Amino acid sequence: MWGRVLDAVFPAQCAGCNAIGSGLCDACAPPSANLAVSFDGVSALATGWYEGTLRAAILAVKDGRRDVAAALGRRLAPLVEPGALLVPVPTTCARLRVRGADGVALVAEIAAASNGASLVVALTQGAGDAQRGRSRTERLAARGRFTCAAHVAGKTVTLVDDVCTTGATLVDCAGALRAAGATVTGALVVAATKAERLWEPYSATSTMCSSNARTS
Ligand SMILES: [Zn+2]
Repeated sequence: MWGRVLDAVFPAQCAGCNAIGSGLCDACAPPSANLAVSFDGVSALATGWYEGTLRAAILAVKDGRRDVAAALGRRLAPLVEPGALLVPVPTTCARLRVRGADGVALVAEIAAASNGASLVVALTQGAGDAQRGRSRTERLAARGRFTCAAHVAGKTVTLVDDVCTTGATLVDCAGALRAAGATVTGALVVAATKAERLWEPYSATSTMCSSNARTS
């Protein structure tokens, strides 16, 4: 409820330049780079690098900025297959209590609504209690950080996250969904961390950029 009230009081404002009208204005939004990578059975697409105004926008969403979440959702929307079922990667419970809303779920909701897709908040992330009593080896081996709490058996789903670095979170989430009987087509993320050189442009028209990315 407070979100709606605040939206009415404060109009959307760009996370990059503070211009009124959009959570990330056209001038500040870097062109969509559409980077692709595959992690351990999960194909992921990102709309750009985690840097500059895109990074500022993602951090603003983590601080509860719904206007910026809406802008990032619209940025992600062209990557969403019409009719897809999106599953946001959950934040920790403790963080949810602090922020009052899950930013990734907001981004996924807008992306789904813009493109005739739908959303199911299927995954929950434990705050650490699930690891209690396990040995160090067991904890390191555990891929049980995420629990699937919704009925997704027989459904085909696509993961959504804000930032992706190593892909470990996406792989964990896909594992939880597959264990619950879902088919995971892949993952859509707003930004990829540049430190990981795995990502490459996937557009058929950017073959040259692709080879440059490999050697840069
Ligand atoms: Zn701007």
